[in-house]
Amino acid sequence: MTVTPSEAHTGLGIRVSDVREQVLIDDQGRKVVTMGDMEFPPRKVWIRTFGCQMNYHDTERILSHLQNLNFSQTQELAEADMVLFNTCAVRDLANSKFYGKLAEMKQVKKNKGGLIIGVGGCVAQTEGKDLLKRYKHLDFAFGPDVIDCINDMVYRTYAGDSKFAINSWDRSDNFSIETKITHGMPQAFINIIKGCDKYCSYCIVPYTRGKEKSRKMQEIVTDVKKLVEYQGIQEITLLGQNVNSYGHDNNETLASLLGELDQIQGLELIRYTTSHPYDVSDELIAAHGSLKKLSKHLHLPVQSGSNSVLERMLREYTVEHYMGIVDKLKRAQPEIVLTTDIIVGFVNETDEEFQDTMKLLDVAQFDFTYSYVYSPRNNTRSAKMVDHLSDEVRSERLQYLQKYQLDIQKRLRQSIVGERFLMLVEGHGDQGGVKKWRGRTSCNRIVHFLPETPTTDYQWHWVDVLVTSATALSCQGKILLDHGRRPTRS
Ligand code: SF4
Repeated sequence: MTVTPSEAHTGLGIRVSDVREQVLIDDQGRKVVTMGDMEFPPRKVWIRTFGCQMNYHDTERILSHLQNLNFSQTQELAEADMVLFNTCAVRDLANSKFYGKLAEMKQVKKNKGGLIIGVGGCVAQTEGKDLLKRYKHLDFAFGPDVIDCINDMVYRTYAGDSKFAINSWDRSDNFSIETKITHGMPQAFINIIKGCDKYCSYCIVPYTRGKEKSRKMQEIVTDVKKLVEYQGIQEITLLGQNVNSYGHDNNETLASLLGELDQIQGLELIRYTTSHPYDVSDELIAAHGSLKKLSKHLHLPVQSGSNSVLERMLREYTVEHYMGIVDKLKRAQPEIVLTTDIIVGFVNETDEEFQDTMKLLDVAQFDFTYSYVYSPRNNTRSAKMVDHLSDEVRSERLQYLQKYQLDIQKRLRQSIVGERFLMLVEGHGDQGGVKKWRGRTSCNRIVHFLPETPTTDYQWHWVDVLVTSATALSCQGKILLDHGRRPTRS
């Protein structure tokens, strides 16, 4: 029998020398992992993620840890030995879908003895203990700050000590992690700051993700260099609930981090999300004008076009301030494309306040808006406000806004017909019985194109495309040049 230490604990700053999982190859050549006195044969995990990119990134991290415990991911619920949910507390819809799915698992567990069920993420952080009481088939719950301990929790459950909820906060001075990816793609999410100090009146995030804590710039730069050199990463997206507040706790800034990352050889494209308008500095705006690898897209949630609503939301900026940033960004980087989030029907939103948001759409000309009706989240300040607005009015306003925005998008997209873009091809799909490839431009627009031959494989190639037609939601293009796996620059 061969024994080798697993690579579970080589992170920057966590559990560096504490290698506990051991990989054994048994007499039949089968991989078995031991941890403590327990053996872990090959097993399958089925995981469902709800919510934002941060949650999808956390899922990737969970899967990477579980690999060290001999788990591989399955898309087939029937073959799972463990079921995990990574939950989101921000939107009502994601929340209800999660509760429905968790309830369904009762029967699934009855049919499959030994199935383990765990719930992670924001709902587990605030309601973990309650979930365990209400759903007897649930084994454990864990908050976002303890995902790096997932293997300990799985160990504990297999050891027979289940029915626990862990929602403790990371108390260390610095936020220190190493990015873990297992997907083999050239794109990676890099977590650079966690938590949020803003306390917008409608938002649950500060209560589920805690105070802001940034990673040190040098750690991130080293992390990204390794990903580029050893894992072929070419495009990164820096993540944080309030990403442009990065570094306040360490006297560092997002702009200076972007400047460092821009110099990494082999890295082609840098994106970041999600930004708060209050923290868009002049230094960051200037970076959009000067850095070669920085995406020409910025997602900048405005939430409302009415100053009185923004005040009730505790957003800390006015419409005039927001538009001032937009103007400066467009001056610094004329090709920049802006997208936003809008909450329709915030507490007691008047018709006049709603019309102010409609006016903002005209002025700002967003390339895309993620718009939702307001729904109160437990324990937030806005949930305690007396609200007289009906759901019917909210839905009418949302429909009206979305239709109006689609017209704006259509005009904007049609204005780029005839333009040439470099983009990374992310996959292909069937469009009306025809196979088309699709990529994402630096300015975050999806372009679909026909292959030169039916069998040409463009996966993860950089291509130049000419946009030939456009609708409100997508662009069609024609391939002009296939650069292969790396863009060639003139
Ligand atoms: S800045 Fe974003 S994450 Fe933070 S409280 Fe406001 S809406 Fe929530």
